[in-house]
Amino acid sequence: MTEHEVLIAGGGPTGMMLGAELTLAGVDAAIVEPSATRDREGGSRAGGLHSRTIEVFDMRGIADRFLSQGQTAQVVRFANASLDISDFPTRHPYGLALFQNRTERIMADWLDELHVKFYRGREVTGFVQDLAAMYNEASIVVAPLRFGAGSCRKSGGCSDRATSARPRSPCRSP
Ligand SMILES: Cc1cc2nc3c(=O)[nH]c(=O)nc-3n(C[C@H](O)[C@H](O)[C@H](O)COP(=O)(O)OP(=O)(O)OC[C@H]3O[C@@H](n4cnc5c(N)ncnc54)[C@H](O)[C@@H]3O)c2cc1C
Repeated sequence: MTEHEVLIAGGGPTGMMLGAELTLAGVDAAIVEPSATRDREGGSRAGGLHSRTIEVFDMRGIADRFLSQGQTAQVVRFANASLDISDFPTRHPYGLALFQNRTERIMADWLDELHVKFYRGREVTGFVQDLAAMYNEASIVVAPLRFGAGSCRKSGGCSDRATSARPRSPCRSP
C-alpha cells in the first residue's frame, strides 16, 4: 500500500495548483486523476487566464511559460461590457487568451519538475474517517481502475463537477 500525507482528488487546474503548493511547502502530496493522459477528453474549456491568475503564476516564477504561448489583451468582458484594465495596479494589467488544454499541459510540466506524484487512470471512489481523527484526518480509498489502492492522512477534493466519491459513513461533528 502506498501512503501519502495528502491525496488530492482531481488533477484539473485546481488540483494541480494545490499539489504544487503543498509540494513546495514540503508536504508529501499526490494527485489522483481518472484521465489516463494529460490531454483530457473534451478538449478545451476555459479560454484564458485573468490578470490575478497570471500574478499568482508570476509569484511562482512560471508566468512567462503561459504568456509565451497565448495572446494578451488589456480588455476584459464583464456582463457583456468591455472593461479597460490597462491601468490596473499590477505587473500584468491584461488577460491572456490561452485554451485550458494548453494551460493544463504547462501546469503538468511544472508539476513534473516539482516531482509531484500523479496517479493517472484512477479515481477516488470514497473515503472513510476514523473516530480517532475526527477533526481533519481521513483515509482515502482509491479504487484502482488498473492497479493498487492507497491511503493518506488528509484529503482534498478538487473537482468542480459531480464525482462518484462519497463518504463511506456520515461525517459527524464533534
Ligand atoms: C463547457 C465549459 C466551458 C468553460 N469555459 C470557460 C471559460 O471560457 N473561461 C473560464 O475561466 N472557465 C471556463 N470553464 C470553467 C473551467 O473549465 C473550470 O473553472 C476549471 O476547469 C475548473 O478547474 P478544476 O480543477 O476546479 O475542475 P476540473 O477542471 O473539472 O477538474 C476536476 C478533475 O477532477 C477529476 N475527477 C472527477 N471525479 C474524480 C474522482 N472521483 N477521483 C479523482 N478525480 C476525479 C476530473 O477528471 C477532473 O480532471 C468552462 C467549463 C466548461 C465545462
